[in-house]
Amino acid sequence: MLGIVFDGKKLALIDDLVGPDSGPGEVEIAIQASGVCHSDLSVVNGTIDFPKPVVLGHEGAGIVSRVGQAVTTLAIGDHVALATLGQCGACSACDSGRPTMCRDTFGKRPTPFRVKGTPYHNFANLSTFAERIVVKANQAIRIPKDIPFASAALIGCGVLTGAGAVFNRAKVKPGESVAVIGAGGIGLNVIQAARISGANPILVVDTNRDKEALARQMGATDFIDPRAEGDAVAAVKARTGGFGVNHVFECVGAKRLMEDAIKMADWNGNVVLIGVAPPDTKVEFLPLGLLLDVTIMGCRYGTSKPQTDVKRVCELYQAGRYELDALVSKRYPLADFEHLIEDMEAGRIARGVLDMPGAHA
Ligand SMILES: [Zn+2]
Ligand SMILES: [Zn+2]
Repeated sequence: MLGIVFDGKKLALIDDLVGPDSGPGEVEIAIQASGVCHSDLSVVNGTIDFPKPVVLGHEGAGIVSRVGQAVTTLAIGDHVALATLGQCGACSACDSGRPTMCRDTFGKRPTPFRVKGTPYHNFANLSTFAERIVVKANQAIRIPKDIPFASAALIGCGVLTGAGAVFNRAKVKPGESVAVIGAGGIGLNVIQAARISGANPILVVDTNRDKEALARQMGATDFIDPRAEGDAVAAVKARTGGFGVNHVFECVGAKRLMEDAIKMADWNGNVVLIGVAPPDTKVEFLPLGLLLDVTIMGCRYGTSKPQTDVKRVCELYQAGRYELDALVSKRYPLADFEHLIEDMEAGRIARGVLDMPGAHA
């Protein structure tokens, strides 16, 4: 089958990728569309140190093409969005509704792919840059058939991570103030979840003015370009009576921006660090600044419950309240993946999506 593989030096499209058969509790998915996330590029540029060779891609949607004997929840032909979380379903974390805290979330198939007999690693439990993949049944979440695959592809990473940080981790309430640093694939989902939660104002900080229109479409009330305004922290405080905001979401993973995020929080404020920083990144802050009940939070995968949260997003989408289509900046045939990456690195697109050859709708 076709797949984009990374050998440690460069990405390449090949046609002799071989995947595994599905086991009793697994399903095979014919990938229809795959988003490309910064975390995929982070493996390529070394920010994320991941074993190679590997099949990347962790944001996808497809059609169930084979169902293991023990699977009762899915049928061939179902449309599904894919989650990277393969929670065990039986531990105390899973049982208490915190599947992202399950200590057994990985697929136990570290090298499911072969190229001319050489084992290739699996990425984030998925590897959506391949035509067909095998996942645990609970990673494939059935979606309505009227949601385009390119839009549904984004649910499994950008949407769950961004919206989940607002709904599940920070638990933003109506009228609370929010600042979002970085209006990319994650940030746009933070913005719309903040809007749905009733937040006001929603202050978006980004140096790329081209992102303003889409950020406002998602629900931003203000767009702050720190290069124009001088200092992002001062700009946020100026719009909140000098106090700062109730919730700050850092969606980039840069030291300076994380430090700014901490300074933007009001008394009793939350700072949610979503962006993935390089592993040696250290952040400096004044502990005295946290004295007034300021909380710094990590957040794994939007603290999501994938079955519940994917269903919620799909229903909001169908009601016209959650935007998925506009999150897809541009679609590219699989063979054009290099153009997608160029556009992404140049900041021309928020999220590019790869269409598999012969994909439906
Ligand atoms: Zn991602
Ligand atoms: Zn578990």
